[in-house]
Amino acid sequence: MLIMKRVLVTGGAGFLGSHLCERLLDQGHKVLCLDDFSTGSRRNVQHLLRNPSFELIEHDVASPFFAEVDEIYNLACPASPRHYQHAPIKTVKTSVLGAINMLDMAKRLGIRLLHASTSEVYGDPALTPQPETYWGNVNPIGPRACYDEGKRCAETLCVNYHQQDGVRVKVARIFNTYGPRMAPDDGRVVANFVMQALHNRDITIFGDGSQTRSFMHCSDLVEGLLRLMDTSDDFVGPVNLGNAEEISILRLAELIVALTGSRSRLVFEPRPKDDPAQRCPHIALARRVLGGWAPQVPIERGLMDTIDYFRQLL
Ligand code: NAD
Ligand code: UDP
Repeated sequence: MLIMKRVLVTGGAGFLGSHLCERLLDQGHKVLCLDDFSTGSRRNVQHLLRNPSFELIEHDVASPFFAEVDEIYNLACPASPRHYQHAPIKTVKTSVLGAINMLDMAKRLGIRLLHASTSEVYGDPALTPQPETYWGNVNPIGPRACYDEGKRCAETLCVNYHQQDGVRVKVARIFNTYGPRMAPDDGRVVANFVMQALHNRDITIFGDGSQTRSFMHCSDLVEGLLRLMDTSDDFVGPVNLGNAEEISILRLAELIVALTGSRSRLVFEPRPKDDPAQRCPHIALARRVLGGWAPQVPIERGLMDTIDYFRQLL
């Protein structure tokens, strides 16, 4: 029997947070969505506002906050390089102070907290696929550092709160995830390529397109997060959540052009500094601890779902 809980989702008006809020409401829970709308938007949760089990609070997670809840999903943080590089100090504060505020709250209430970490903790990885035991290869003063190091520090805090104060934490290392409600202008590759293709504009490939990523549809990620929250108290992670199928950025561009039927040309632009050359998760741990969890949505189907969403926006 499902026990109805009151769940706090920070960053709940963002791309991933809004899907998570929706799933939690579908399961019969009450959802408190906290967001400062810096990269997310009210539009993402507009359809949830009429649901009496949904509450939206405008607040910066880096400032102290308290509410009586039963669980916390801490997702608040810009995720697109364009966004986090635009406000690097705020990004560090969001990751670090936000984690401290949420962990303090979890400690006071004796509740579980799931923290959304990232594959960026591996930096530009020297080995592939990346297992959770890999310590990473991060430039601490590079353009991605505010995000990478902020997330690494947040992981440290999660583990320290667990070890020192017995806080029940779960750390998810999320790999590139895409789907409806990505901001069309947030600069991430799937949003960029789909928008460019739908407008028949040039598709901007940074470098020669040989760098790889592994793309997971948002529905698979949300399923993984829910299962992770329900693992036993002694399981902290970190655990990789991602699609184990790796694809080059050039191949992704070709696929999006084909799926949209676009007349766009592929153009090659300089590669951003410290752009990781490869990224692919090892997901054996996730499969084992999350009841056989693995991404179910093939990339063609997931991209079509995303393309349909962006088409409706236009
Ligand atoms: P997003 O930018 O769409 O969502 C982030 C949300 O957090 C936004 O609604 C934003 O307004 C909110 N936010 C940012 N700073 C805040 C602050 N100080 N206080 C309150 N709210 C704040 O990004 P997303 O893709 O939905 O990412 C959600 C989480 O998942 C992030 O923590 C991100 O690091 C992590 N993640 C995402 C991916 C991915 O591929 N989408 C990969 C790895 C990790
Ligand atoms: N990228 C690209 N063209 C774009 C946007 C991104 O070639 O218009 C590349 C980028 O250089 C990187 C990959 O796509 O190698 C993924 O970039 P994104 O910003 O989506 O996420 P990242 O995984 O780098 O955080």
